Amino acid sequence: MPNLEETYDIVVVGAGHAGCEAALACARLGMETIVFTVSVDSIALMPCNPNIGGSSKGHLVRELDALGGEMGRNIDKTFIQSKMLNESKGPAVHSLRAQADKQDYSRQMRRTLENTDHLTVRQAEVTEIMVEDHQIAGVRTFSGAVYRAKAVVLCTGTYLKARCIYGDVSNYTGPNGLQAANHLTDSLIANGIEMFRFKTGTPARVDKRSIDFSKMEEQFGDERVVPFSFSTDPESVQKEQVSCWLTYTNENTHEIIRGNLDRSPLFSGAIEGTGPRYCPSIEDKVVKFPDKNRHQVFVEPEGLYTNEMYLGGMSSSLPEDVQYAMYRTVPGLENVKVVRNAYAIEYDCINSLQLKPSLEFKAIRGLFSGGQFNGSSGYEEAAVQGFMAGVNAAMEILGREPFVLDRSQAYIGVLIDDLVTKENHEPYRMMTSRAEYRLLLRQDNADLRLRAIGHEIGLVDDATYEKTLQKERDIAAEVERLESTNVGANARVQDFLERYGSTPLKTGATMAELVRRPELNYFMLTEIDPNRPELPEDTAKQVDINIKYEGYLRRQQQQVAQFKKLESKKLSPDFDYSTVGSLRREAVQKLNQHKPASIGQASRISGVSPADISVLLVHLEQMRHGKND
Ligand SMILES: Cc1cc2nc3c(=O)[nH]c(=O)nc-3n(C[C@H](O)[C@H](O)[C@H](O)COP(=O)(O)OP(=O)(O)OC[C@H]3O[C@@H](n4cnc5c(N)ncnc54)[C@H](O)[C@@H]3O)c2cc1C
Repeated sequence: MPNLEETYDIVVVGAGHAGCEAALACARLGMETIVFTVSVDSIALMPCNPNIGGSSKGHLVRELDALGGEMGRNIDKTFIQSKMLNESKGPAVHSLRAQADKQDYSRQMRRTLENTDHLTVRQAEVTEIMVEDHQIAGVRTFSGAVYRAKAVVLCTGTYLKARCIYGDVSNYTGPNGLQAANHLTDSLIANGIEMFRFKTGTPARVDKRSIDFSKMEEQFGDERVVPFSFSTDPESVQKEQVSCWLTYTNENTHEIIRGNLDRSPLFSGAIEGTGPRYCPSIEDKVVKFPDKNRHQVFVEPEGLYTNEMYLGGMSSSLPEDVQYAMYRTVPGLENVKVVRNAYAIEYDCINSLQLKPSLEFKAIRGLFSGGQFNGSSGYEEAAVQGFMAGVNAAMEILGREPFVLDRSQAYIGVLIDDLVTKENHEPYRMMTSRAEYRLLLRQDNADLRLRAIGHEIGLVDDATYEKTLQKERDIAAEVERLESTNVGANARVQDFLERYGSTPLKTGATMAELVRRPELNYFMLTEIDPNRPELPEDTAKQVDINIKYEGYLRRQQQQVAQFKKLESKKLSPDFDYSTVGSLRREAVQKLNQHKPASIGQASRISGVSPADISVLLVHLEQMRHGKND
């Protein structure tokens, strides 16, 4: 075997959504970086849903953008429809979702990778990690070539020992028939890494010409598109958009599925991997919700250059003939032609409890990981982990402090803390309900929360950071102006209030008091507020939210102060919890297994009770006062 040998600062294994962010972050921080993929034609491939964002996932993309990541900019260049979801609800759950042209998305990300300094893109299968005395030393590829590095970031997604299944058909390939990576798992196990077997699934892709759209509800994008990236000029994304379509399954569909469950690899046990509870297949839904007489089916374009349409909500691994039969019961799909079958995919990933909050392996210095490989599911969840793992690989080499976000700073902090603290026995998907402080962690203020940190890391430039500082100044000045601007009970104001069904003023009020009225908002008051400054849309939105939700925001900030108190009580990774006499046996076992970084993290470990935390706090206090025997 030829023994090509090269040396880099950082090796990234995988050029999916996690690997791309990791590689770009490392190279942009000046690290000589090489990124491997089994096929350079599949960089940033979207093997499942053709969209970026959606509930809570939009938050992740915006936070990533604020920190200097790429996904937000990439989707702003390649989207074909965009919609702000949950606008009828409070701002905490507003979430952007954009349909992507998948081929364009991949091409654009590839162009960015290939034109980034310090970054080398390489098509080769990594088959082995090289570890010397618990320190990563590099990787070896299928050809026997050696790539030495000070840090390695594993972002292998759904490729490790991947198996694709529908009915009794199964292939040891990666998604879309791409080559699987069948060797690395053994090397990881040989180095003491605990692996899990997970599964996920995707629906069929069908030919647009075979669909009768007259039987479906057309779903339009927003008239005024809000870009994902805070760096994107909003005017540049106002363009013609394509439609998506909504139809429903029915009892005939459900009958066909129930009648063939014995041929379903999911129910026959042919599929070993554990699937995502919150992304169920259609057969799962029909079994779990027998009383539901219909399930939504979102028919979404895969791109402008193809007739392929994605049948969202009907992922499956049922046999091919059953797929045809069930799809053809759905209104509008009666004559549907399938381009690609629905299938499930099983793959190897890790038990993420083996990771520190920096996404470094506790047992191997310099080895980091991100994405589906860590047991999550979703492009967005993958991208933010890849970014964080990449940044921390660079931080380690640069001798800088690890970069960790806590649960009060970002959805990214919630995601990673859940992965490295809680036992995840199925693919982890982000949801707004997972974030305790979601009123503070909105998608609209991600830049105000995280730009400073992105700048400090070195991935947000001075000019971009200055723009955010100016935005903060504009918001503060405008809130102050509204709090100090009095409005008299004159005819014009009373007429305005009457038109909006708002209580007339008895004496005067401040503009801010009017903004706080549930039936009014900052934008509506333009009419009676002639001196207001011309502010960009996103700045004006912050003014409105900061005034309207002031009370809720203050209460949540008080909760965060409590949370931070426990997070600041650090615990040593070398501490032996069996030395704390009055701790329960289960708590000792769990704490010694996890080695939590703080009292806060310890309190979130399943099996560690609040009483155990009190015991620990007393013990820490005694140790601090040297009273411990
Ligand atoms: C069939 C299917 C259905 C899915 N359904 C859903 C869903 O319903 N909901 C959802 O949220 N998500 C779903 N996903 C998951 C979603 O695709 C992933 O979350 C996302 O792609 C993960 O990104 P990643 O970067 O972690 O990994 P991937 O996007 O899988 O990228 C992995 C990269 O690693 C490379 N690679 C792997 N091993 C090696 C190696 N040894 N050497 C060199 N290169 C290697 C690959 O070439 C690829 O570039 C599905 C995925 C698939 C395949």
